[in-house]
Amino acid sequence: MAILPDRVLLCEVGPRDGFQFEAKPIPTDLKVEIITALIEAGLPRIQVTSFVHPKWVPQMADAEEVFRRLPAVDGIIYSALVLNTRGLERALEAGVRYVDLSIATNEQHSRDNVNMTVDESIAQAEEMVRFAHQYGMQPQMGFQTVFGYASPGDTSLQQIVDLAHRFSDMGVESISLADSTGMANPVMIQERVQAVQAVIGDTPLVLHLHDTRGLGLANVYAALEAGVTRFDTSLGGLGGCPFIPGATGNIATEDTASMLEQMGVETGIDIALVAEAARRIEAFLEKRLPGKLHGLLPKSAPIT
Ligand code: ZN
Repeated sequence: MAILPDRVLLCEVGPRDGFQFEAKPIPTDLKVEIITALIEAGLPRIQVTSFVHPKWVPQMADAEEVFRRLPAVDGIIYSALVLNTRGLERALEAGVRYVDLSIATNEQHSRDNVNMTVDESIAQAEEMVRFAHQYGMQPQMGFQTVFGYASPGDTSLQQIVDLAHRFSDMGVESISLADSTGMANPVMIQERVQAVQAVIGDTPLVLHLHDTRGLGLANVYAALEAGVTRFDTSLGGLGGCPFIPGATGNIATEDTASMLEQMGVETGIDIALVAEAARRIEAFLEKRLPGKLHGLLPKSAPIT
């Protein structure tokens, strides 16, 4: 029998990674309502928005207002995604303490996404980490398409290992490996996770998995065996991938929590309450979300 961790931390990213791909404008009221419901459901860490230019991501134009209206709850970590120095300055002004930085690791992706080379992105990210530390913010450093961009495994593992090493040496709060395109498989997860763990010492490792090819939860299990205890998830499996038409979203919070709890791994999450919040946003968006459990669970069912 594999030895699994006793407890896992799920970071909810639906309000950012999920909402940003939705064309229908989501009112700030509803965003705050969903975030509040997620806190009540026991999610300890929520990525609530991103400070990006509203011209590129209109759905995130209310970042400051969302932040201002978040309930102050002891022990809850709110984070925001920032992709450049301007976004970081806005986050600082808004009082954000935890910032999630993220860079592309594939040249084509980097050019398409931010119009920079990977090396330029790295230099900018180092600058941002120094800025964040200078102003008392905790930066998480994330790497995109770690498990493949155009095809599975086409991202150089050595490059990822070097980047993880470099940023953990800078004292970032955590290192995040993103399977942005959903190309990882359980064996690749274990190989790449172990290679990164070998160079980052005590820096926590986070996996950001998309369920594009249906391998999301299999990849979670493989990562648990490798000792990973932090995952990004989104309610209802909200989210998409801008490069793959019809791609499904992040691994679903309630599905992931349910699998973990059934295997004896604690999450502290009330799965029925997450399912209820997923149905609420599903009703607003008037479309089925890709997660499985939210459609099956009656309200306040005693499910673990
Ligand atoms: Zn994502």
